[in-house]
Amino acid sequence: MSSHRSESSHGPGPGRRTEPETRGRPAGERGPGRGPGAHPTTAAIAGAVAPPDAAGATVRIPGRLRGRGPDRSFDPRPLRAALLPLIRAVEALPDDWPDPLPAEVMEPLLRRHPRPGGGFFSRSQLIAGFHAFANDAGFRLDESAFRRRVQRRPVRTQSGVTPLTVLTKPFPCPGKCIFCPNDVRMPKSYLSDEPGAQRAANNRFDPYLQTWNRLAAFAATGHPVDKVELIVLGGTWSFYPEAYQVWFVQRCLEAMNDFGEGLDRRDEVEATAPDFELIEDGVVGDRFLRNPYNARVSRFLALHHEGELVVDAERSEWGALFGAQQRNERAGARCVGLVLETRPDRVDEREVMRLRRLGATKVQLGVQSLDDAILAANRRGHDVEATRRAFALLRRAGFKLHVHWMANLLGATPASDREDFARLFEDPAFRPDELKLYPCSLIETAELMGPWRRGEWRPYADEELLEVVTDALPRVPRYCRVTRVIRDISSDDIVAGNKRTNFRQIAEREIARRGGHLVEIRHREIRGERFDEKALSLRDTEYRTDAGRERFLELVTETDRVVGFLRLSLPDQASFVAELGHHALVRELHVYGGAVGIGTDAEGRAQHRGFGARLLAAAGRVARRAGFETLSVISAIGTRDYYRRQGFADGELYQHLRLRGEPASEREPASEPEATLSPPA
Ligand code: SF4
Repeated sequence: MSSHRSESSHGPGPGRRTEPETRGRPAGERGPGRGPGAHPTTAAIAGAVAPPDAAGATVRIPGRLRGRGPDRSFDPRPLRAALLPLIRAVEALPDDWPDPLPAEVMEPLLRRHPRPGGGFFSRSQLIAGFHAFANDAGFRLDESAFRRRVQRRPVRTQSGVTPLTVLTKPFPCPGKCIFCPNDVRMPKSYLSDEPGAQRAANNRFDPYLQTWNRLAAFAATGHPVDKVELIVLGGTWSFYPEAYQVWFVQRCLEAMNDFGEGLDRRDEVEATAPDFELIEDGVVGDRFLRNPYNARVSRFLALHHEGELVVDAERSEWGALFGAQQRNERAGARCVGLVLETRPDRVDEREVMRLRRLGATKVQLGVQSLDDAILAANRRGHDVEATRRAFALLRRAGFKLHVHWMANLLGATPASDREDFARLFEDPAFRPDELKLYPCSLIETAELMGPWRRGEWRPYADEELLEVVTDALPRVPRYCRVTRVIRDISSDDIVAGNKRTNFRQIAEREIARRGGHLVEIRHREIRGERFDEKALSLRDTEYRTDAGRERFLELVTETDRVVGFLRLSLPDQASFVAELGHHALVRELHVYGGAVGIGTDAEGRAQHRGFGARLLAAAGRVARRAGFETLSVISAIGTRDYYRRQGFADGELYQHLRLRGEPASEREPASEPEATLSPPA
């Protein structure tokens, strides 16, 4: 990964080949340890095995439960003694508190009642416990009231798509960032008591088990699972061997495909998935090693994987992935977005093509700072120029850019942070689409402990941090979405630094108190609110980047709430991606609506009311007026059908629409009513 932390696509459609080549070299020849972006495995990739889904018995879920299978990874009965006090504590909260309970209330309760043997219960496990014990425990609330209180539905699905996060297995990372935790039970930068990380570990970091069980948990708590944004986190994605990357994404898609069809193959996987629980006991001698995380994890993997970092069962081939992608196009649980994260210095043309071939539509990029001295002090291992290059390459290939930026790094001051953050949007080389703003927190296993002990680094005081954040948020333009302001980790893990998880709310209140105004997307999302469709207007924001001009088209209410938006790139020159040539490019089309299920009636909400088509028509007009003859889209696997219905034709990795009509003056507004889109001949 790219940063201190965290959390659309193409396969073989009609006329698409099943074994495409990376620019320059066929997939099967891209082995480890060769050239830039080489991977660290010692295994040859040629001869990778077929995906492990062909053999073995399958279990069918009864039709009634399709897509709603129980999370079999959790049986509440043996944990009754621990679960009952937690359920009763939730029940005992006043009835006039909001449903669902906010994280600031739920998380301390979960931490006060940990799972025996380590870790914490999840909300879905609480609901499973309530269901299992309701007959004889004499609960005060009925089950539906308890679910409303506990489940996360309004928060998790407010953007119209259900996010599903999976983690890759522990693996060496090329980064040496001094703020990064070194928990060897986790992929680099993650902590084993983070809820998402615990889920991954409980599923042995297996992509199929993680995806299937998460879908089951979502379905069991009432979330629609037909449209899923798959977010793959962990270490530096681009450093994992290509065959592992292919296998990982393929297995996530196969879990979605199976889940949608009511197929359950978890037993086959559980029998063979490696157990990373042993990693702490199985590897010793970290004290004198220069990079304890990489050394310990490499040793463990080699010990348990016959000398290899990745075993045969964790490798697959492009053809098998493309098959899974094709099946997912019409699956019950569709991948409508794939997010992968990496470091700026791992991004070159070949890597960009690999990300696209995997089906990625968005890249999380660890920027952290735009100051070379700060990057060097924190041993990021790359400079700002690498970040500029990565932005330009990813943008020219149509990716959405989700950036991580950190305050309070070693060498920074509140004043330098304010300047650095301002550069993120003032410099046309950057201007990201989404943003995570993380103040640096001191974690016990991070190398930053040394500078802290020597008095060379200290966490900002609350007031200093508040100044940085209250200065930063109003600078974020209307085309960017701030997804997070504080990393969601346990205060127990933080040796020094901010421990308030509601810091965003505190900062927003302070901005409002000072008369400030936020326009970033998340602050303006319509969420589940009703609105008057006739009063919607199309707003067009233009800004420049190093790759060309961007047009951010939004459908907004009279009070500036966003119902949907489209990101349109008008590049200055032809892309290095041959298929794109010099086309206008839709980088994102998003319509809000409380994760309304495909085909679900959602009167008054935003999805399925033609807003997407309206935004696409506006994009076509803008592109044609700017002289472009073709509009291309970086579609997700699960949205290909949608774009076909809008007249787009399949290319190899993108979809394309010929624009008809004469180019007109660009000065005309995008909201002109005439239609200039027409399907290709
Ligand atoms: S050490 Fe690796 S995972 Fe950690 S922040 Fe640096 S690049 Fe990201």
